[in-house]
Amino acid sequence: MKRSGKRVFASRLGKCRSAGTNIAIHRGAENMNTITPDAIQALKGRMRGRVIAPDDPEYDQARSIWNAMVDKRPGAIARCTGVADVMQAVSFARDAGLRIAVRGGGHNIAGNALCDDGLTIDLSSLRSVHVDPDARLAYVEPGATLADVDHETQAFGLATSLGINSTTGVAGLTLGGGFGWLTRTLGLAVDNLTAAELVTADGHRVQVSASENPDLFWAIRGGGGNFGVVTQFVFELHPLGPEVLAGLIVYPFAQAKQLLTRYREYVDTIPDEMAAWAVLRKAPPLPFLPEAVHGQEVVIFAFMHAGDVEQGKRLIEPLRHFGDAHGEHIGAMPFAAWQQAFDPLLGPGARNYWKSHNFAKLSDGAIDTVIEYAGKLPSPQCEIFIALLGGAANRVAADATAYPHRAVKFVMNVHGRWDEPAQDQDCIRWSRAFFKAAEPHAMGGVYSNFMTAEETDRIAAAYGPNYQRLAQIKRKYDPDNLFSLNQNIKPAA
Ligand SMILES: Cc1cc2nc3c(=O)[nH]c(=O)nc-3n(C[C@H](O)[C@H](O)[C@H](O)COP(=O)(O)OP(=O)(O)OC[C@H]3O[C@@H](n4cnc5c(N)ncnc54)[C@H](O)[C@@H]3O)c2cc1C
Repeated sequence: MKRSGKRVFASRLGKCRSAGTNIAIHRGAENMNTITPDAIQALKGRMRGRVIAPDDPEYDQARSIWNAMVDKRPGAIARCTGVADVMQAVSFARDAGLRIAVRGGGHNIAGNALCDDGLTIDLSSLRSVHVDPDARLAYVEPGATLADVDHETQAFGLATSLGINSTTGVAGLTLGGGFGWLTRTLGLAVDNLTAAELVTADGHRVQVSASENPDLFWAIRGGGGNFGVVTQFVFELHPLGPEVLAGLIVYPFAQAKQLLTRYREYVDTIPDEMAAWAVLRKAPPLPFLPEAVHGQEVVIFAFMHAGDVEQGKRLIEPLRHFGDAHGEHIGAMPFAAWQQAFDPLLGPGARNYWKSHNFAKLSDGAIDTVIEYAGKLPSPQCEIFIALLGGAANRVAADATAYPHRAVKFVMNVHGRWDEPAQDQDCIRWSRAFFKAAEPHAMGGVYSNFMTAEETDRIAAAYGPNYQRLAQIKRKYDPDNLFSLNQNIKPAA
């Protein structure tokens, strides 16, 4: 469907004139509005899906997201069942001057999937994935998780490039860039996005691709949720598996310096099909590890080879001899199963505070800093994660998509993670201290999907040289910054 040339923005009044009714909206603090019961009733009349209000028994469950640190109370949650619901919800919120939050998989660390007082547009029940194996395309709804996509695409021996935790939402991951085990071979998620459909601030549905609204297509490939509510993603698919060689090798922390130095040399020798990441943390009770190792600091190499299994075995040989391993679990396994391997370590319900840096190389200083902070983990769930990018992701120009970080070889995350509020201070302090100590060795840019809500001073670094172009496109499609609860791009003046 073509975008209508006429764009009508209602003024931000305290009255919503829609469906022939005048709906009182109470203006709350900070120019945000709370929604009256009458207004909620009116929204219910316009939607096919449920509208969940604060007095609804489902409300607390509906407002819980992956990061238990986030405790927001939306005025209402519009659980959309299709594009029409999204159009209604966007128009309703816009006309009423309500703050909007958009929820896909609900995984984002910043908690922008929810708002206080305004309207949360909840897409989590839209999880259909339709595969066209002849065209090698997947049509994905915006509440789908990685597991949904893997399940449907692997039925045809196909896959696309997404992340490494099957419970992550495809929507938020893709809109920020999206990298995982297949990034070095296939590029980022945005490099495999061939088209999308979204509802813009004027409440219209538009199609975007290289030939339709190409400016908007460019912007959503890394510009996050700034430009509208995406109601469908179309991904290019590629043959994979169904079995891949993958696994974990766990080494003693005492050998960390030697291990990370060898890892740094090793990653320069491997082909794109091989992805090897490093994690420093306390050992989980993995069945292949001696019990005495459980809970001890370790260095874990996690890897996947997106090609011939025998070739993969040859490629991982050096990784198995970086030191004296505590144990390993290596084998050919279904790609969809490997995508779920880390799910138990990163389930919902824990408290999380993450920070992230991009690196062009792992300098000696970076390695020393990682080792120093991995040696004083404040909780058994805290970890430092080094993801290897490069390959196909780096063979794309920085201005080809809104995601600009095409020279990044490693993304390093500090995952502050714990269970009890009493541990908040210690774990946040540790995460921040590591982040600051690692900063001199990093590139300065940051992946927008790993930013906390407080990091507004890093937004320019997240969009890098593409920021001005994004701001121009924002002015064209969302001049009033209706979609502001994200790593926000302000409309150009
Ligand atoms: C356990 C875990 C593992 C992760 N692993 C990876 C990984 O391997 N690779 C990687 O690249 N990232 C990874 N991430 C980061 C992930 O990409 C972001 O958290 C991402 O935002 C999650 O998307 P979501 O839809 O689940 O989140 P949500 O919180 O639902 O959405 C995040 C934001 O995206 C926007 N948004 C969501 N849906 C839409 C939509 N349909 N239209 C418009 N805007 C929308 C909104 O601004 C929203 O606030 C991981 C995160 C976690 C918690």
